[in-house]
Amino acid sequence: MSQKRIAIFGSTGSIGTQALEVIAANPDMFTAEVLTAQTNDALLIKQALQFNPNTVVIGDEKKYLIVKEALSHTQTKVFAGEKALEEVACLDCYDMMLAAIVGYAGLKPTLCAIELGKPIALANKETLVVAGDIIMRKAMEKRIPVIPVDSEHSAIFQCLVGEGRNKIERIILTASGGPFLGKKPNFLVNVKKDHALQHPNWSMGAKITIDSATLMNKGLEMIEAKWLFNLTHEQIQVVVHPQSIIHSMVQFDDGSIKAQMGLPDMKLPIQYAMAFPQRILNNFPRYDFKKPNTLSFEEPDIKTFRNLALAMEAMRQGGNMPCILNAANEIAVYAFLKNRIGFLDMTEVVEQTMTKIPFIETPTLEEYFETDGEARNFAASLIHM
Ligand code: NAD
Ligand code: MG
Repeated sequence: MSQKRIAIFGSTGSIGTQALEVIAANPDMFTAEVLTAQTNDALLIKQALQFNPNTVVIGDEKKYLIVKEALSHTQTKVFAGEKALEEVACLDCYDMMLAAIVGYAGLKPTLCAIELGKPIALANKETLVVAGDIIMRKAMEKRIPVIPVDSEHSAIFQCLVGEGRNKIERIILTASGGPFLGKKPNFLVNVKKDHALQHPNWSMGAKITIDSATLMNKGLEMIEAKWLFNLTHEQIQVVVHPQSIIHSMVQFDDGSIKAQMGLPDMKLPIQYAMAFPQRILNNFPRYDFKKPNTLSFEEPDIKTFRNLALAMEAMRQGGNMPCILNAANEIAVYAFLKNRIGFLDMTEVVEQTMTKIPFIETPTLEEYFETDGEARNFAASLIHM
């Protein structure tokens, strides 16, 4: 069997580096054909020298010559800049895209890959939050799979294998609750980034770690699930499960619930998506039922963690509202990471942007792009005040 050629968009991030570990551990199954990074030239060069890809892209054009020079003795082609991401996504040198860029920036390259008929292993949830209807419609037209990498969605995907047309009553997304589970606004108001960046169960990039602390991540995941599994908003429930052992569940219309479980390790959903429908043997630590264990479940506190309530509202409204929510949230999270605004201010920025930007019920792709820009500008203007 020939190896599957993987294009990792966002190879220097948390998901990207773990995907390369999976590829390194399974050289008979995968090669890394495309690697891309935004700013980390040193790591991109190191990865390219190890994996010998067909092409690399460095987003930051100022770093082009450094990368070009370092790889001049190799066969690897080097490109730079935002446009190059889309151009490289349109090359025919790979078999599957692992969409592991963070944020809205991941949308356009992923669209290019879908247009070209490439299967997608999707980590970048923001792509579906912004334009899930268009993405899934195009994937359907091209008859290509969009296989989730997000652990909750991978769990649901795995629960649905073999279920054919059996009806889903609802899905239950589990949430760890993040580092501030049980805390109230009088505590959250003083939270600083160093504390918010410490997630109890997962080690991830900065943006998703903050989203996990505010519960926005779970809201984005509800919208992601709606599009991936073609659900209505009423069919999606969130339950806090602090141990992160059950990664999510599906309840069918006979009341039966299937769960997918395991220790929290993103390499599992990454390798599952890359190798689907095969499972790959590995030596990752196993969950041990002989140790004292408690699996607990509780309702999310959406009065305190209002970002989750806002995301639910955006999902309910549909149209360009999730796109507005996402853009404002990206601006708010990066402002928080730069100590420009407080933890609870992030919610204010998102809420005000949602009330300000004009609602469009069925946006075109162009209108999604415009909405994103307008929402970003408005959210940024709130922070500059
Ligand atoms: P990260 O910040 O660690 O890495 C992001 C990657 O994207 C890097 O390679 C970076 O160079 C690149 N990038 C950043 N900004 C870019 C831009 N403007 N243009 C092009 N490339 C850019 O992020 P991560 O934690 O690996 O998350 C990646 C995606 O996967 C996110 O959408 C996140 O929600 C999703 N996800 C991550 C995890 C996790 O465990 N880390 C779990 C589930 C889902
Ligand atoms: Mg997740």
